[in-house]
Amino acid sequence: MTAELIDGRSCAARLREQVQADVRELTARGARPGLATVLAGDSYPARAYERRVRDLAESLGCRYSCVALPGDAAEADVVAAVGGLCADPRVSGVLVLRPLPPQVSEAAVYRALDPLKDIEAVHPVNAGLLALERPRFVPSTPASVFHLLDTYLSRDGRDPGEVYRRSRVVVVGRSANVGKPVVSLAMARGATVVSCDVHSARAGLLREHTTAADILVVAAGVPGLLRGVDVKPGVIAVDVGINAVHDEMTGAVRLVGDLDHDSVARRAAAITPVPGGVGPVTYTWLLRNTVAAARLALATDPVRRAKGLPGPELDVRELVSA
Ligand code: NAD
Repeated sequence: MTAELIDGRSCAARLREQVQADVRELTARGARPGLATVLAGDSYPARAYERRVRDLAESLGCRYSCVALPGDAAEADVVAAVGGLCADPRVSGVLVLRPLPPQVSEAAVYRALDPLKDIEAVHPVNAGLLALERPRFVPSTPASVFHLLDTYLSRDGRDPGEVYRRSRVVVVGRSANVGKPVVSLAMARGATVVSCDVHSARAGLLREHTTAADILVVAAGVPGLLRGVDVKPGVIAVDVGINAVHDEMTGAVRLVGDLDHDSVARRAAAITPVPGGVGPVTYTWLLRNTVAAARLALATDPVRRAKGLPGPELDVRELVSA
């Protein structure tokens, strides 16, 4: 079997057209969406991510700003930067870039976000709503995983919901930003879900679960963690990992996923490539969530918000769900 490639670039291009139309519509109504990022330190992946997000936001006509802090910034400075952006009415959504420097607690910074501008759903309220299957925002990477799966599964008129309800979904990696939300979204679709992390690998349990997966999502950050022998023939495999490795032959740096692509592709029914799979959809989804946050701000009474009172009852699920 040679797997069908699930093409993230073409999915992202279609999504981008929708987001572009939404940005135009909101801008015409005087509510131009604005994205702001907070970058602390000079981690290469965080800076690379910031550049990609900036380019996309600007090309779509969104407002964009980035607060860059030095690597030795105090936690209070990062918290203050987040608070300042959340108080700015021109900013619809705020993204805190990871990794933060070691002296800065992610939890403290996430708590400083305004939940209505927390487009990656990392504030405890939004993470809780997602776990309760009532998401306000669906974080961009997990949303992209299901956008790609839904797109693949719905071709030829199939019902993706039917497939999920009959499938065992195995998620490798359990981070708060990727693995756990993927588990929540798979459970919300009625799948039978197994979550594995580094402890499963240390206990020798990983292959037992990955070889049973009908749908396999891998987000561990370990290049080539799983090979063809680790997966079931006919699996649908989503590779979230983005790892920079040195090519021994050429010395050049290239990006690879957590799957050994070629050997898994020989067994799988479908597979996402790296690069060109989950990544391009993720950036676009972040802007989609920025648009959703701009709509939310429009729908929320600013006077009540200024007084710290809750906004009107909103059913935001249809607005922002994957
Ligand atoms: P993380 O380091 O926060 O979490 C990694 C998770 O994998 C942990 O739960 C850990 O226990 C688990 N793990 C580590 N080694 C393992 C092993 N040998 N076996 C099983 N589980 C193991 O990382 P993250 O932020 O969740 O990111 C994971 C990967 O996804 C990284 O490569 C990252 O670059 C990539 N990523 C890609 C996108 C995208 O849009 N494509 C977005 C975010 C992250």
